[in-house]
Amino acid sequence: MSNILKPVELTSALIKCRSITPTSAGSIDLIISYLEPMGFTCTKLDFGQGDEKVENLYARLGSLEPNICFAGHVDVVPTGDEKSWSIDPFGGEIKKGKIWGRGAADMKSGIAAFIAAVSEFLEINKNLKDYGSISFIITSDEEGKAINGTKKVVEWLINKSEKISGCIVGEPTNVNQMGDTIKIGRRGSFTGSLIVKGIQGHVGYPDLAENPINSLLKMLEPFAKIYLDKGTNEFQPSSVMITTIDVNNDANNVIPGEVKAKFNIRFNTLHSVASLKSMLINQFDAVTKNYEFDYFCNAEPFLTSDEELKSTLQNAITKVVNVNPKQSTTGGTSDARFITKLCPVIEFGLVGKTMHKIDENVEVDDIIKLTSIYNKFLHNYFRVKKND
Ligand SMILES: [Zn+2]
Repeated sequence: MSNILKPVELTSALIKCRSITPTSAGSIDLIISYLEPMGFTCTKLDFGQGDEKVENLYARLGSLEPNICFAGHVDVVPTGDEKSWSIDPFGGEIKKGKIWGRGAADMKSGIAAFIAAVSEFLEINKNLKDYGSISFIITSDEEGKAINGTKKVVEWLINKSEKISGCIVGEPTNVNQMGDTIKIGRRGSFTGSLIVKGIQGHVGYPDLAENPINSLLKMLEPFAKIYLDKGTNEFQPSSVMITTIDVNNDANNVIPGEVKAKFNIRFNTLHSVASLKSMLINQFDAVTKNYEFDYFCNAEPFLTSDEELKSTLQNAITKVVNVNPKQSTTGGTSDARFITKLCPVIEFGLVGKTMHKIDENVEVDDIIKLTSIYNKFLHNYFRVKKND
């Protein structure tokens, strides 16, 4: 009897777990129940306490390198009003050639496709352990705070000196059709907050006061240009957006003593946290020294330079769906920002059109195609022949 797993059935079984972020609702145990019989050593990694506790998984088959890793998240965003859905968001229903439910696109089908691809690969290549390894990083904390998920798993792997040669994150990267886009990097995200101080007073006696709003307007004036650079071959221009300015002044005859502002910068590899910090301090100091500036950066930009990883995936895509994928770095952040500290990482999964929406769904055919692409990728990556 064949041990090859069916990706559409797997997707359906995963959708049935109500794994609203940051819970796994049995989905990680379900994945273990598929991986262990294939010979994977599964290590469950729980991080965080109480309500913040998050289940994660690192699974590996083999001890040699190359160790190719698949990463993904089982948690999903909330459904919103379930009455607005035309189907049960956790029913995993298959109809009209599509599979429906929360997480269908983002990204339970991606996980299912990779597990099925591995089961098919191992059926033909029973001796993988003699020349390499396959591993999985699965989290249930990607859609929420992302503190006790992949970030902590990566720290744990680095502490263990675990070697991973390359990683595919199965996020829904395609825009319109299977194979149109792979992500080879992402921009960074930098949030700044500013408190400008002045001297509170009567609006009729401006000489006795100092309005911090006037200083703030000058300090933020360069942000009106929006773009910080012209972009690179791989990245769109870095952009800055003021997200809030707060004075909380209800009186029309009082010059406020303090004003607060926040802004966010999405930046490419032309900048770093240090270069942004010094650019901003110079900009602010030119106006006044009477301010407090604070910032945090939850994602640094990265770009994958592993040509072999990129071309192996690209070739597999072209072979299966006859499309030449675009290499993109657009969009928000993903767990790839953490994995890049461990190994080269690229992202490729389903078509993302309906992700996070009511009636989320993907084409059943696309799950089959994705499984074939992952399977082809594994054969090409390990340079073993595929018996078509
Ligand atoms: Zn996702």
